[in-house]
Amino acid sequence: MHGLVVRKQQLTPSMVRIVLGGGGLDGFVMTEATDAYVNLAFAPEGAGYSGAFDCAQVRETRPREEWPARRRFTVRRWDEAERELTIDFVVHGDVGVAGRWAAAAQPGDVLVLEGPAGGYRPDPAAGWHLHVGDESALPAIAASLEALPAGARAVVRLVCDGPGHEVELPAAPGLDVAWLHRTGAASDVDLLLEALRGLDFPAGSTDAVHAFVHGEAEEIRAVRRHLLQRGVPRTAMSCSPYWRRTMTDEAWRRVKGDFVAAMEAEAS
Ligand SMILES: Cc1cc2nc3c(=O)[nH]c(=O)nc-3n(C[C@H](O)[C@H](O)[C@H](O)COP(=O)(O)OP(=O)(O)OC[C@H]3O[C@@H](n4cnc5c(N)ncnc54)[C@H](O)[C@@H]3O)c2cc1C
Repeated sequence: MHGLVVRKQQLTPSMVRIVLGGGGLDGFVMTEATDAYVNLAFAPEGAGYSGAFDCAQVRETRPREEWPARRRFTVRRWDEAERELTIDFVVHGDVGVAGRWAAAAQPGDVLVLEGPAGGYRPDPAAGWHLHVGDESALPAIAASLEALPAGARAVVRLVCDGPGHEVELPAAPGLDVAWLHRTGAASDVDLLLEALRGLDFPAGSTDAVHAFVHGEAEEIRAVRRHLLQRGVPRTAMSCSPYWRRTMTDEAWRRVKGDFVAAMEAEAS
């Protein structure tokens, strides 16, 4: 499957929205999950193939070093009527594959993808909803807020690089949003944890929360541990380390299974 870039929008200095369309998305079937994601495939520079390539065929016919780089990204929106797929990319400097592709993308460019899949949707029976993450989780958090039942109470804690990096979130009367701004200090990695430490849960409602905690691996793990210590049941939490500081996605995927197993084994 593949999409053609039809529109591009600079959401913040470090986030680019890409809207994909075209007949290459004919087979796309959206899931109910608000954290639905697609697997993107990028041909390495100089590999000698491009456009709407077939991943399976490339893997069968070419040496491993020429196989496409894979990256997972959230479906920020699927417009069934227009059959357009929106993805919001963090552009984190001049490194990596996906962020750089998004920064340079132009209308007509091709993006090869597979999916979608996903696992989370806010539980309508929950007493309140907690959403915690960084820019990479922003698309899934925004999609989740849009899916909350009318009148639901939601607390959102997001970390970003400064006021100019904040993104407008779906408005709702029961929404408590706080943005935490990195300063460049080593303590930036604790901003989410400290915000959670300072958060008063609605009285007597620890059991009633449904929590979505996604983003940088160590930050997510620390927040999850804190929530367990406060008595939040692990079954009421969706915690996913999307990326890991200092590691490319290839390096991260090699150790991610062990990291997640160790994280999920933590009782507190
Ligand atoms: C299910 C799922 C859904 C995701 N959805 C989104 C999404 O909607 N939008 C999105 O932007 N990301 C999303 N991510 C995270 C994204 O897949 C990773 O950030 C990925 O590493 C980006 O690839 P890259 O090629 O740009 O950088 P890589 O080549 O993987 O990494 C290069 C360097 O950049 C660093 N880096 C990677 N990501 C970030 C970041 N976000 N901020 C700062 N530094 C970074 C790495 O640690 C590494 O040092 C999702 C991940 C998962 C698993």
